[in-house]
Amino acid sequence: MRFGSLVLVVVLACFSSTAFGDEPKFAIAIHGGAGSAKDAMSPEAAASSEKAMMNALTIGKKILSEGGTSLDAVETVIVFLENDSNFNAGKGAVLNAAGKHELDASIMNGENLQCGAVAGVSTIKNPIVAARRVMTETRHVLLAAGGAEAFADSQESTIERVENGWFTTQKAIERLEQLRKMEAIENSTSQTERLTSKTDYMGTVGCVALDSHGNLAAGTSTGGMTNKKFGRVGDSPIVGAGTYADNKTCAVSGTGIGEQYIRNAVAYNVAAQMQYGKTSLAEAIEDNLENRLDPADGGLIGVDKDGNIATGTNTAGMLRGVADGKGRFEVSW
Ligand code: ASP
Repeated sequence: MRFGSLVLVVVLACFSSTAFGDEPKFAIAIHGGAGSAKDAMSPEAAASSEKAMMNALTIGKKILSEGGTSLDAVETVIVFLENDSNFNAGKGAVLNAAGKHELDASIMNGENLQCGAVAGVSTIKNPIVAARRVMTETRHVLLAAGGAEAFADSQESTIERVENGWFTTQKAIERLEQLRKMEAIENSTSQTERLTSKTDYMGTVGCVALDSHGNLAAGTSTGGMTNKKFGRVGDSPIVGAGTYADNKTCAVSGTGIGEQYIRNAVAYNVAAQMQYGKTSLAEAIEDNLENRLDPADGGLIGVDKDGNIATGTNTAGMLRGVADGKGRFEVSW
């Protein structure tokens, strides 16, 4: 599929609050990053990512169906995906221009707008765990780099640490080498950056959930973009850009070119369109992908306060999983 063409897939599940019968009312959506189409990957790599997505969905669904909280479901699902090297989050994260990993993550509680995030961390095995701890154990929202690492030190070994090299995979090394070669060929930095931004992202993870108590939560975790400048922070740890949750409207997680999500305040904008424009979640997601973002910028997943799920991307593909209390359980691209 040609980059630049708009590929928009919106999956919508609607159900009334009574339609659940005796089933607990919950809904969950997960993404494994926007970017390439499934057929651009090797069949083995695609199958392995799909299997991981299926397992992540099973874990999240179990927590929610047993009455667990949306925050627990979001954190547990993202930890699982961070530990799976198929994804660009935690183990398997991409490398920056200095050949190191700098990881970003955020989490938000729709019940009270509490949120926590870490940016540019380099030894925290599961950034989403640290993000939740920033939310619950500090009066702040976002801790960055050395400050986030120092905060992790203060948490009595409950935030697991690893050497930076632990995150590295052969795939991440090859992606960096490829982009460096392209940079050497291209003389224009701006052209190279444009090319990089449109072709090399995939594997960020995100999860949104509505629990049986009526609370929404959202979380996102990423290694960012291959060959990013040292110190670059994307949208994933920026509440309102890559992540947002408010029980009044919806929970949202984005993936794609972080700068575009920050410029357009995309995650918050989806919620705001629902709150002030009275649009549905599916309409708000579609509008952001079609009219606010540029073609091939990325994708979005969301769950609204009534349990409707919507997902979409304007890239060639986005691995995603959706499940709910009515028995829906699907993994697709
Ligand atoms: N949004 C992430 C970032 O810009 C990358 C991605 O979603 O693939 O850091």
